[in-house]
Amino acid sequence: MFARQVAVGMSPEETRETVGTWRDAVAGGATLAVAWASALTLFETRWHRSALADLHKQPGGWAGVLVVVALSAVVHEMLHAGSWRLLGRLPRKAIAVQPTWQAMGLAARVVLPVSMRVYRAGLAMPCFLMGVLPILVGTITGNGLFLAWALFFSLECFSDLGSLYATRHLPATMLVMSHPSKLGCRQVSSAHDLP
Ligand SMILES: [Zn+2]
Repeated sequence: MFARQVAVGMSPEETRETVGTWRDAVAGGATLAVAWASALTLFETRWHRSALADLHKQPGGWAGVLVVVALSAVVHEMLHAGSWRLLGRLPRKAIAVQPTWQAMGLAARVVLPVSMRVYRAGLAMPCFLMGVLPILVGTITGNGLFLAWALFFSLECFSDLGSLYATRHLPATMLVMSHPSKLGCRQVSSAHDLP
């Protein structure tokens, strides 16, 4: 209901796209806000201090912060690219890396058709491996710095969450590619026969 589905180009059957609206972006932001509030509250309840009180333990100070931020952006995009290639059994040329102002860096896109199931898994992989898992580890071990970084890494998943919300109504077997500039995806064809 929230996503806009339109036909572009000469052949609507092959060039439909599903792009997100502001509602999908808000849903992504709200998901992050709930995750942040829950994680910080759980940590404080369990360890009787704020996770943010551990920020001074950052190795390397501000230089260390910059290194982690830069590395996390690279790892985030590699997780997208690796997941799409591995799960979709795609060649190297299936992945394009392009500069993007939204992510303030580089963004990996899948430019050969994959099933919606594979597309979703590739979108969600950084969210899971750099967000959900480290948030749990930080909360369980009482490492506030680890939790704080996990929360930051989850922010980098904002547009991925928006895309997941925007495309949530699409069937898992639909063939899609990344949208070049917006939340959502391009629908390559109406085939429904991918595993
Ligand atoms: Zn991403």
